[in-house]
Amino acid sequence: MISESRYDAAAAERGDELLRAGDIEKHPAGGYRCLCKSMPLTRRVQSNGAICIGNQCRVCGRFAVVSKRGVDVAALPEYRSNEAWGVLLSALSGRDYLREREAHSAIWWAEYDAYLKTPAWQNRRRRVLDRANGICEACLEAKATQVHHTTYRHAGNEPLWELRAICGSCHEKLTELDRTREST
Ligand SMILES: [Zn+2]
Ligand SMILES: [Zn+2]
Repeated sequence: MISESRYDAAAAERGDELLRAGDIEKHPAGGYRCLCKSMPLTRRVQSNGAICIGNQCRVCGRFAVVSKRGVDVAALPEYRSNEAWGVLLSALSGRDYLREREAHSAIWWAEYDAYLKTPAWQNRRRRVLDRANGICEACLEAKATQVHHTTYRHAGNEPLWELRAICGSCHEKLTELDRTREST
């Protein structure tokens, strides 16, 4: 959930400008995407000290490596990490699509909860636990008591390979890991 403090009026204004100019557009799947219209060559020093060159988008900072052959590397401007894009997206989304997405997500979870009460789910769940002989597929030690979704992409019509038998302790750890990763 986006906090008020992340809302940045200046960035939102800049986002509007970019939308009007056609540098970015609304993504059909929600959110925004950069069309990367201007990508000058830059020189980038990698964490291991090696230098590579690539085109970097002025708007979103996307970097696409290209061959160094025949290029005067020293003359190139330096790659700069681009935090402005993240600020801009937050500002844009804070105003509309994030709220929509949250509403959408609330509906999705309600449907998912209802699905977990259906015989179809009970049947899938039982077969996945049987397949694993009742042993947690994460630690291969504890008794599996739950079924984990490796992805929610097909929730409701999951192929059974997307489901794993898991013990309560492994499931908690995994959920915690996923949560940490999503919040960064
Ligand atoms: Zn871009
Ligand atoms: Zn386990």
